[in-house]
Amino acid sequence: MLGAARAAPGFLPDDEGRALHAAALGAPLGPWLEIGSYCGKSACYLGEAARRRGTVLFSVDHHRGSEENQPGEQYHDGALVDGSGRVDTLPGLRRTLAAAGLEDTVLPVVGPSRTVAAHWGTPLGLLFIDGGHSAAAAHGDYEAWLPHLAHQGLLLIHDVFPDPADGGRPPFEVFCRALTEGAATEVSAQGSLRVLRRL
Ligand code: SAH
Ligand code: MG
Repeated sequence: MLGAARAAPGFLPDDEGRALHAAALGAPLGPWLEIGSYCGKSACYLGEAARRRGTVLFSVDHHRGSEENQPGEQYHDGALVDGSGRVDTLPGLRRTLAAAGLEDTVLPVVGPSRTVAAHWGTPLGLLFIDGGHSAAAAHGDYEAWLPHLAHQGLLLIHDVFPDPADGGRPPFEVFCRALTEGAATEVSAQGSLRVLRRL
């Protein structure tokens, strides 16, 4: 699993991946869900924990990339485009899950996160928010998915940068919001990863 995670293109340092895995091992059951599959790096860490715990991870992504992944932008990867020149990270995700032996545990859901949330019905034991970083995307994901997180479920948020010099605001705002709204309490932190528990 580690080899597959490290080989996958993506945006999650090793120490944060290990922290994700450790946190997930202590998450309540009920299926787990992540927003933002990209090529499956975080899905390896969460998926390995899900398999050990006997649950599954739904991994939601429209696979067309975030703003910063588009051609000409800072985090565009020319290897991840389809025949029409559009970003397509689904083949990369499938390769990673096959290499990690996690195809029965990590279940890709292809579509816009908030549309999936609007039709979702199963309480989640863990929710990892790592999708779009615009204010609309980050706050929208939080608002759409938090109601699906079970009491005591783990809320994981990536790319939380208290210092604006380190990165964009919206994931940090969502983290602050979860605390000030009394929706969750902080459990631990590793790099830009925050682990919270739903109240
Ligand atoms: N967790 C990944 C990184 C995710 S990058 C890793 O470990 O490497 C963010 C992803 O969110 C991108 O793949 C992008 O396509 C996806 N995304 C952005 N906005 C989205 C939306 N509204 N619905 C679904 N996916 C979205
Ligand atoms: Mg991220």
